[in-house]
Amino acid sequence: MKYLSTRGGAERLTFEEAVLQGLAPNGGLYVPESIPTLPADWATAWQDVPFTELSFQLLSLFVPPTEAEGGIPREDLRELINKSYASFRHEQVTPLHRVSEHEWCLELWHGPTFAFKDVALQLLGHLFEYFLARRNAKSSTPHTLTVLGATSGDTGSAAIAGLRAKANIHVFILHPQGRVSPIQEAQMTTVLDENVHNLAVPGTFDDCQDIVKALFSDKAFNDAHHLGAINSINWARILSQIVYYFAAYFALRRAHPTVDASRVQIVVPTGNFGDILAGFYAKRLGLPMERLVVATNENDILQRFWATGRYEKDTAAAGDVRATLSPAMDIQVSSNFERLLWYLAYETAPGPDKAADAGSQVAAWMQQLKSTGAMAVSEAQHAIACRDFSAERVSDDETRAAILRYYRADADRASYLIDPHTAVGFEAANRVATRQPQIILSTAHPAKFSEAVVSSIAPASSEQEATAFFHTHVLPKEMHGLLDKERRVTHVDIAPGPDKLAALIARTKEIIERDGFQV
Ligand SMILES: *Cc1c(COP(=O)(O)O)cnc(C)c1O
Repeated sequence: MKYLSTRGGAERLTFEEAVLQGLAPNGGLYVPESIPTLPADWATAWQDVPFTELSFQLLSLFVPPTEAEGGIPREDLRELINKSYASFRHEQVTPLHRVSEHEWCLELWHGPTFAFKDVALQLLGHLFEYFLARRNAKSSTPHTLTVLGATSGDTGSAAIAGLRAKANIHVFILHPQGRVSPIQEAQMTTVLDENVHNLAVPGTFDDCQDIVKALFSDKAFNDAHHLGAINSINWARILSQIVYYFAAYFALRRAHPTVDASRVQIVVPTGNFGDILAGFYAKRLGLPMERLVVATNENDILQRFWATGRYEKDTAAAGDVRATLSPAMDIQVSSNFERLLWYLAYETAPGPDKAADAGSQVAAWMQQLKSTGAMAVSEAQHAIACRDFSAERVSDDETRAAILRYYRADADRASYLIDPHTAVGFEAANRVATRQPQIILSTAHPAKFSEAVVSSIAPASSEQEATAFFHTHVLPKEMHGLLDKERRVTHVDIAPGPDKLAALIARTKEIIERDGFQV
């Protein structure tokens, strides 16, 4: 199994190369050259196995078994998977919770940072460490990785949890000082491992992103420090997430044998299209399901694509994105959507070399998006997208109402507290409701977004009442005392001057040179 770029070219990478490289040199994303075939007996052979075994079986389809092929010997793969999910608090890793007669919630937040990104980043951290150690065993020049990222909260804490204490890796995460929620800030800065560096930037999230972009495009600095990205375009992140779609299917069948699991609608709160893209791969592999539902917040480029077939930036939004109650889904364009576009192009390609046709089509689309802010697929391609997916847009008011509605018990269901991202999913699910079963993916624990949750449930409460409510009803016991723990954070301190961004970039470089690998 080799990997190719969505933007074409002759490059064919091994799994190892695709994971370490992240983004293709031509700007494309790596996709597997074909969709593997499931074993004929998968539906019975896998039905009772634990999550780690399911993960092993599915990953084995995409990862060759030898080092020579850029793969991973089977016993090593098994160990990497077992280590990755040993950090989860629930024995099922991603348990399925029944909310009402037709609704089930797939809880993806039982990992170290209480967000779904742990499922992928726990594994990615182990893969990075494994590949670096393997390369170092054969080479006299050390292979190291300096992971650099900007965060408004969720990605940073999950990346830090995945990379802490990993050999040959330093991780630098930039966050806007004082603009990250207290819980998220504590989750990042109370990790004291010496390879973890939290940089507090006196500025906005956009400033953090600008610094990161500047360092990645600084070729000399990048070559010296081997910068690595941890964002959601890495193929290993998508791959690891395919597993929980299968886990949900089997959990539903086991617990409710009379429910027709093959008619299920799966609803996914969506930002960069990574989580739901894994569902698309599950569907293409042959997992029975009715349809995937894309649930967006007011940053609705995906919802508009399904309505019109046009993928068009929101020019009415002031700045690049609309700030909503579900910040992890505040995006202008969805990076992983390019992979779906590749499949739409591939299926409608004239051939004989469909992969090459698809690559040139996607490259042209991306060029158009960059120069005009919009691109469109053909009617046939739009029809294919609508066969597998539908899409709904959910406003902040609807998000708040959904949090409150599910918190209040009624005749049909017990009280269930959800975070604002998950609430976008539940609201979308209600809209497309039929009498068929629905699985809604829950992407974060409500404690991570306590302000939105508490104010939705008790809008009129005083600050004191809200704090008391938060401690008794929202905060999980594992987070008690988190805010008081010892912290370590490096301030990107700069002298006032005319060019603030240039000063921030220069200071960040100094900090990485001082605290990271000596090169
Ligand atoms: C990252 C994130 C999402 C969006 O996932 P994508 O893969 O980017 O679509 C949704 N909810 C939460 C809580 C997240 O952290």
